[in-house]
Amino acid sequence: MNFLLNSLFSNVLVKLTCLPPTFLVGFKRTTSKKEASQVKKTTRFVIWICSKFTRREIEQIIQGLIEVLANRNPEVKPKDDFKEKHPNYRNFFVDPEPPLKAPPQKAPKLNWKELLSNYQKEKGHPLLPVNNKDPKTKAPKGSLCRVCGAPAEYLYFNDGKKRSQLKCKVCSSLSQVHPRHRNKAKYYCPHCSHSLYLWKERKDVSIYKCDNDRCSSFLKNKGKLNFAEKLLTKIKSSQFKLRYQYREYHFSEKQLRHSAPEEKDASCLFKIHNSLNTLCLALTFHISLGISARKTAFILRNVFSLPLSYQSVLNYTEIVAPYCHRFNKTYKGEVDHIQAGDETYIKVRGKNHFVFFFISSCNRKITAYHIEKSRDTLPAVIAINEAIRTASPGEEITLVTDGNPSYPAGIHFINQNYEPNLTHKKVVGLQNLDKESEEFRPFKELY
Ligand SMILES: [Zn+2]
Ligand SMILES: [Zn+2]
Repeated sequence: MNFLLNSLFSNVLVKLTCLPPTFLVGFKRTTSKKEASQVKKTTRFVIWICSKFTRREIEQIIQGLIEVLANRNPEVKPKDDFKEKHPNYRNFFVDPEPPLKAPPQKAPKLNWKELLSNYQKEKGHPLLPVNNKDPKTKAPKGSLCRVCGAPAEYLYFNDGKKRSQLKCKVCSSLSQVHPRHRNKAKYYCPHCSHSLYLWKERKDVSIYKCDNDRCSSFLKNKGKLNFAEKLLTKIKSSQFKLRYQYREYHFSEKQLRHSAPEEKDASCLFKIHNSLNTLCLALTFHISLGISARKTAFILRNVFSLPLSYQSVLNYTEIVAPYCHRFNKTYKGEVDHIQAGDETYIKVRGKNHFVFFFISSCNRKITAYHIEKSRDTLPAVIAINEAIRTASPGEEITLVTDGNPSYPAGIHFINQNYEPNLTHKKVVGLQNLDKESEEFRPFKELY
C-alpha cells in the first residue's frame, strides 16, 4: 500500500514537472505557502494511516469520519479554525456566581445609637422617633440612614410628593430612598452591585443582565478579547458574552419528573410461559452482563436447554424495567458528598437521546439516570434533583461535571431553594489545563 501511494505521488510529481513552466508559475501563484504545507501534511497523514491500518480498518475510519461530517455524532465535531482564532466567539458560558437579592449596604460612618445617647446626655431627655401618622409620608419599612444607620422610625420624606429623599432626625443628613423601594429590581450584580435588568423572557427562563459599563466582570471579559475578536464585536456584538447574566428558570413540578420506563400491565410478569428462575437467568445475561438478546437466547438454548426466543428476552426486559426502576429509586439509600455527572448519547428508535448519569464517589451507586432528547438545563436539573434526593439533611454536596453549561445553570436553579447550596466543580477537556480540572478529574473518571 505504502509503495503504491508513493509511486502514485511520485507519478503526480513527475507529471507536474513535465508541465510547461508557465503552468507551474500559475500554480505557485494560486497556492499559498500555507495551503501547500497543509496539502503536504494531509498527504503524509494518508501515508501514515495506510502504513498502520488494514483496508477494512480504513473503511471503518472513513465511515466514522463521514458520520462526524454529516453531524450525526453529537460528541465529536471537526476542529474549527475560526473558533481557534476567536475563542470568545459564541462562548455563552454561565456565570458561576449567583446574583445578589438586595444591594449590599455600606457601613454607616456614624453610629445612631451613640448619637442618641449623646443627645440624651446633652438635652436631658431622649430623642423621640418621627411622629408620623400619615402613611404617605412614612419612610418605607427597612430603610436605613446612609450616614448613621438609624432605622425607618427616625426617617421621614424630605421632598413631598417625589418621595425619593429621606431625612434623618438623628444626624440631620439626607439619604436616597433604598433602591429596593425605589425600583423593582429583583437581582443585583455580584461584581458591581448594579441592579440587573430583565433582558430576555422566554417560556422557561427569564434572563437578567448587568448593563454597567464599569462592571469589573464586563471589563475583565472585554480585556480577554484578542485583536480579531475586538474587530468582530463591532459587527457581531451579540455573539460575545461579555456582561454578567443570570438565568432564572421557571420549571414546573410536572416538567421536573425523572424519566421512567413505561408502566405495563402489572399482571404481565405472572403470565409468562417460563419460571421466574428462567426470567432471572435471561436478565442476568442480557442486563447485568450486557450480552445481546440474540446471544442470550443462544446461551439459554444451547447451554441450559431452555428454549427461549430473543424476542422473549426483549419482552422480559421491558416487563421488569418498571419494577427495577422503582426498586432503584426506593432503595437508593444514602449518597456521598461528592458525585460525578456526565451525559452520554444513546439512540432511541433511531433518534439521538442523552442519558444524564450521576455516580456517588465512594459507594459507586448510580444516583440518577435521566433520559432526554436534549442536553439543556431542564434534564440537568432533573438528574441533579434525583442525585441529591436521598442526601442526609445538611449534607454539603459537591458535583463534578464536564463543561456543559446546563450544569451550572441547573445548580443556580436548585440552589434558590436548597440548603446548604450545592458546589459545582468543572473538569474540562482531556488534559488538565487548570487547577480545578486537575483536582477533580479522578471523580470524572469514575465513568
Ligand atoms: Zn442619620
Ligand atoms: Zn455588574
